[in-house]
Parts: sequence; structure tokens; C-alpha cells
Amino acid sequence: MSGVIAYLGLGSNLGDPIEHVTEAAAELVTHPEVTHSRCSPLYQSAPVGPEGQQDYINAVLEIETTLESIALLDWCQEIENRHGRERHERWGSRTLDVDLLLYGDQVIQHERLIVPHAEMHWRAFVLRPLADLNADIVLPGFGLVSELLSEISEAGQHRLN
Ligand code: ATP
Ligand code: CA
Ligand code: CA
Repeated sequence: MSGVIAYLGLGSNLGDPIEHVTEAAAELVTHPEVTHSRCSPLYQSAPVGPEGQQDYINAVLEIETTLESIALLDWCQEIENRHGRERHERWGSRTLDVDLLLYGDQVIQHERLIVPHAEMHWRAFVLRPLADLNADIVLPGFGLVSELLSEISEAGQHRLN
């Protein structure tokens, strides 16, 4: 059975962020409708948003799935909740954030789900690990990941593994 290739953005900056991201990557694949996965290297970066936060650990996970897009979002949010995710201020610290970045080549405008993820085209902590997995991937409406990456700064971000 062949599914859709989707990319998930993982991030954490509370508790043990490396552990949260690594465990989330393993847990996301335990769904019976997630049939394949490949994780990017981990990156450490300075936080965006409110000051006084720990550095972030980020990675991108490539999966193959037969889940519909909203069901996949539900699964991502379930994994966030298992990691004790609480929602306070926008862009505030979090134990785990799982964003649905790309879902095949689909453009989705749903009240709960915008795909491609609305901010991903300018975020180095998303584009760099995504390009590590697939430098030829196109963000529908935005273009090639490698070209988007060449237009932004990667300062303040470094690879951990
Ligand atoms: P940002 O969207 O800037 O990365 P965030 O990840 O901190 O911010 P959240 O609080 O995790 O934002 O999510 C807020 C809402 O965004 C979610 O409840 C979800 O319905 C919605 N959303 C829209 N598009 C997406 C997407 N592509 N991936 C994940 N959530 C999305
Ligand atoms: Ca996010
Ligand atoms: Ca999110």
C-alpha cells in the first residue's frame, strides 16, 4: 500500500529537548498508517519570539502515510500532548511542537491546517533539515527548498549530529 510522503517539523526547548525530539520521531512512526520514516540531523538554534527562552532543538521527519491530512494533524497533536505540551503565549517555550510542513504536493487551506506550513519558507530551522533530507523538494507556491534556503541566514543555528 503506498501512501503520501509528508514532512513534519519537530521542535523543543523545555526539559530535555534532544530527548523530546528524538522520542517524538520514534513515536510518530508507531502509528499503523505511518509506514516509513527518515529523520534529519538535529539542529540547535536561538529562539524566535519572547525573550528568556532556552535554545531550540529542531529536526524534520519524512514519513510515508495513508492518513488523511487532518488525521495526521490529530496524530501530531496527540504526540505533542503525550509530551506535556501546554499552550500559553504564541511562540512561547514548549516541550514539543510538531508541525505538518508538507503533505505530498497538496495545498491545504483548512481552519485547522495550512499546508505548506505558513511560516516554513523563511525559517532556517525548518528549511535546513528539510533540505538535508531532500534538497530537490518543492514547497507548492514557494519553490525549491534549496533556493529558499539560499535567500535566508543560517546564523545562530548549528548541526548536532
Ligand atoms: P507556528 O505556526 O508559527 O509554527 P506554533 O507551532 O507555536 O506556531 P501552535 O500553537 O503549535 O503554533 O499551533 C496553533 C494552531 O495552528 C494549531 O492548533 C493548528 O490547528 C494550526 N495549524 C495550522 N496549520 C498547521 C500546520 N501546517 N501544522 C500544525 N498546525 C497547524
Ligand atoms: Ca511551530
Ligand atoms: Ca505547532
